[in-house]
Amino acid sequence: MTFRLHDSLTRSLRPLDPVEPGVVRMYNCGPTVYGEPHVGNWRSNVCWDVLRRALELSGLRVRQIMNITDVGHLTVDDLADAAGEDKMEVAAKRDRLDAWGVAAKYTALFHEGRRKLNLLDAERYPHATAHVPEMIAHVESLVRSGHAYATPAGNVYFSVASFPGYGKLSGNTVEALDAGARVEVLDEKRAPEDFALWKRDGKHQMQWDSPWGRGFPGWHIECSAMARKYLGDTLDIHTGGEDNAFPHHECEIAQSESLTGKPFSRLWLHTRFLLVDGQKMSKSKGTLYLLRDVEAAGRSMRALRYFLLSTHYRAPLNFTWEALAAAEETVKSLDATVRRLAADPAVADDPALADLLARAGRDFLAALEDDLNVSAALAVVHSVRSELNRRAALSPADFALARERIAAFDRVLGLGLLDAAAPAAPDADAEIQALVDRRESAKRAKDWAEADRIRKDLAARGVRVEDTKQGPKWFRG
Ligand code: AMP
Ligand code: ZN
Repeated sequence: MTFRLHDSLTRSLRPLDPVEPGVVRMYNCGPTVYGEPHVGNWRSNVCWDVLRRALELSGLRVRQIMNITDVGHLTVDDLADAAGEDKMEVAAKRDRLDAWGVAAKYTALFHEGRRKLNLLDAERYPHATAHVPEMIAHVESLVRSGHAYATPAGNVYFSVASFPGYGKLSGNTVEALDAGARVEVLDEKRAPEDFALWKRDGKHQMQWDSPWGRGFPGWHIECSAMARKYLGDTLDIHTGGEDNAFPHHECEIAQSESLTGKPFSRLWLHTRFLLVDGQKMSKSKGTLYLLRDVEAAGRSMRALRYFLLSTHYRAPLNFTWEALAAAEETVKSLDATVRRLAADPAVADDPALADLLARAGRDFLAALEDDLNVSAALAVVHSVRSELNRRAALSPADFALARERIAAFDRVLGLGLLDAAAPAAPDADAEIQALVDRRESAKRAKDWAEADRIRKDLAARGVRVEDTKQGPKWFRG
């Protein structure tokens, strides 16, 4: 089976058909680094990480690029709206830093959070501030071909009328946009729906020379320029949150396709929001949670990752502390199964189990290839968990198969299942037996301190020792 994904542009499930066979070029709209990412932002990030991992499990190579939006865009998306304030500069005042300091601070926090949630490193995280020459070249080319125009004030706008496909992603029509346009739209634009590619502003903290004077680029052009530089004219997958479809992605399509004459991306994927009490996470309602709030509540990053990945990316997900607690329990139950797994040479091979594990591997992948059906994939994982729980010990061959299967599940889930639960491999048993023997010798030599130290070491490995008439016996758990 090939991978099928839901494409927002055609509003249908479509097979993934990479431009270069076997290689998937994926561009993820990344964070705007003016504040600490909240759990909602992490939901999108976890979804794309799971997608990347699933594509890799399916045998594809993934070239993943995620940008860092460090040139602040205005708080109102239309750069020409005078009411808009620059997000980075607002944050700079708040944090008593300059815009560059704000970008550095929150980029670092983004990467720190990414590691906590075990998100794989993308091939690159290009910074918008490091790609202004590419953006200027893109804008110049659009001006030359008549898709964009500069105003006497030194602002450059994309002429929406020059691109008949405008609206194809979001379903917006120019007529509807015009009707809804605010009256105070600056009259330097030819049409209210035209959007800014370059804004002249000598007072902006981040400013660059351009053919139109010193200023800064529009938000949308950043992604068009960086995606093209690293992944070429046509991407296989372009992702974002549901709020990115309009205007951001609609504008990216217009700019990129006007330049290259080719489809910008073969598939467009959008994650639905993470909600709190049925509404978008919001600072003013006090429902905006950061990773450190989750940590302060005593919840692990593994539980958060499980919670965020366990709902389909196209379904809204409601954040509750109860749901997070349930995710913690589920992760613990997986750990318990892995910890209990034991190989015993006295146990015969179980062909039914080997079959079941092989089928589970196929079903797990097939679920993910079906538009990332994580619920079905997790159902497979949990059915394997209960099958393993029903068996006291496995033959060494079955034990190896079971661990292999769990490792393959975890390549996608990213929960560190085999690391978190100490394996009961035969060599680990031998190691524990050696420690138990050393503790016995220490006790015989009345070296209580050493005996105690070894007991603590064993406890840290989840091993309990009981002294019986027949000598010491040890147990896991
Ligand atoms: P931003 O840093 O605001 O540009 O957002 C980074 C990414 O997080 C974007 O792709 C947004 O669509 C996404 N995002 C923002 N809020 C949420 C939310 N509550 N749930 C899921 N994704 C979100
Ligand atoms: Zn973007």
